[in-house]
Amino acid sequence: MYCPRFVYFMNVLKIQQHEHRRHLVNKGRDIHVLKMVQNKEYLRSKIGVIDKSLDVYLSSPSLHLVGKVDEVLFLNDGSAAPLDYKYAYWDNRVYKTLKMQQTLYSLLIEENFGLPVSNAYLVYVRSKNHLEMLPITKPMKENALTVLEKIFNITYHGAFPNAKTAIRKCEDCTYRNLCVS
Ligand code: SF4
Repeated sequence: MYCPRFVYFMNVLKIQQHEHRRHLVNKGRDIHVLKMVQNKEYLRSKIGVIDKSLDVYLSSPSLHLVGKVDEVLFLNDGSAAPLDYKYAYWDNRVYKTLKMQQTLYSLLIEENFGLPVSNAYLVYVRSKNHLEMLPITKPMKENALTVLEKIFNITYHGAFPNAKTAIRKCEDCTYRNLCVS
C-alpha cells in the first residue's frame, strides 16, 4: 500500500528497514496496556456480539497469509467480524491502509471459521474508545486479493516494480537513498 518498490527492497533484496520505524511499533504495543483496563463487555449490546475470541492468530495456506487480530466477534446474525484497537484519534475517516488490513483479516476469518464477514470494527482508544464500523464489501475483498497477487508476484518472481508513488512518500521512505525513482 505504501509503494510496490518497498516490497521489492524488503522481500526480494531483504534490506532491513531503518530503526526510526520502531517507535510506531512501540506505540502499537501501548495498546495492549490500554486493553487491560478496558471494559470488554460494552460491545455485546451495542453490536450484537454473542461470543468472541481474543488475540487470535490466523493463517491461510491458500491465501499465503498470517495475521493476528485483537478480537474475532461472533454476531447474532450468524456472521463474524474482526475488531482491532487503534492507538489513535478518530478523525472522521478510515485510512486506505486500515481498510486493506481489515479486509485481509476478514478473508482470514472467513476461511478459518467458515462464517461470512461483512463488517469490521475499529476502536480508537485516544478518542474515548470511539467505535467505528467498517463495511467489508465484495469489491474490497476482490481488490485485496489482487493486491496480494501483485505483492507475491514481486516477492516470488523478483519483478522490479515501477515506482508509482507520491513524492512525499519517497521523502519519508527508509529506502530513499537506494531507490532510483
Ligand atoms: S523511495 Fe519512493 S519509489 Fe523508492 S521505494 Fe521508497 S517510496 Fe517507493
